[in-house]
Amino acid sequence: MIIPKTKEEIEKMREAALVVSKTLGMLAKEVKPGVTTLYLDKLAEEFIRDHDAVPGFLGLYDFPNTLCVSPNAQVVHGIPNDTPLQEGDIISIDCGAVKHEFYGDHAYTFPVGEVTPDVEKLLRITKESLYVGIREFKTGNRVGDVGYAIQQYCEKEGYGVVRELVGHGLGKTMHEDPEMPNYGRRGRGKKFVEGMTVAIEPMINMGTKNIKQLKDGWTILTRDGKPSAHFEHDVAIVNGKPKLLSTFDYIYEALGIQSNEEDDFRF
Ligand code: MG
Ligand code: MG
Repeated sequence: MIIPKTKEEIEKMREAALVVSKTLGMLAKEVKPGVTTLYLDKLAEEFIRDHDAVPGFLGLYDFPNTLCVSPNAQVVHGIPNDTPLQEGDIISIDCGAVKHEFYGDHAYTFPVGEVTPDVEKLLRITKESLYVGIREFKTGNRVGDVGYAIQQYCEKEGYGVVRELVGHGLGKTMHEDPEMPNYGRRGRGKKFVEGMTVAIEPMINMGTKNIKQLKDGWTILTRDGKPSAHFEHDVAIVNGKPKLLSTFDYIYEALGIQSNEEDDFRF
């Protein structure tokens, strides 16, 4: 069942989304060679609690940490550990927080130092596909329109679109209806309505779309060992159009990146 939110509820969700956005902005400065993901996890937990919020993943379905950190061939759900990041790695960081009873859920894939041009392209295309999908999240459209747009955008580059993991409705629980796949057929699936709030999150592999899971019961990685990228925004439909609840502004501010990618979707 889709649970549309009132204007007041969307304001609260905006605050939760800003907590995770600021957390990733804080982490952007910390991601560098030699740093462990366990250290990033500690920083994130403290930061979230300092902002009158609660880590959203910690304990959710028994997940052991605040962040999901997934380097290189890991797609999502990686568990923080004491292996230092290395120059040329990429690291997908997914962060959840609860504030005013609502969840924020937000992810970004960071390059660690310099990465190869083909990896840089994977990051760029995956992030662009996120906005290509967001543009389709409006009243009158359906779930399949978002998935179709993301899938076409990534597959024309020869990339694999992960099938087993999908975006989702977001609210007082982390995973509400509807599921928001990153693949699909135009005009198919549930219809979007005013006040809907979802997490759109393309998980895109440089090679095969196929994945496997580690024995830890969490970590998802690509079956061919090639890298994977993940970007996630929280989005609401306001006056029929997609409005971003989360923002990469804090990351870009930290890294000195100029971008107008969010301009059409400002809250
Ligand atoms: Mg997430
Ligand atoms: Mg999510």
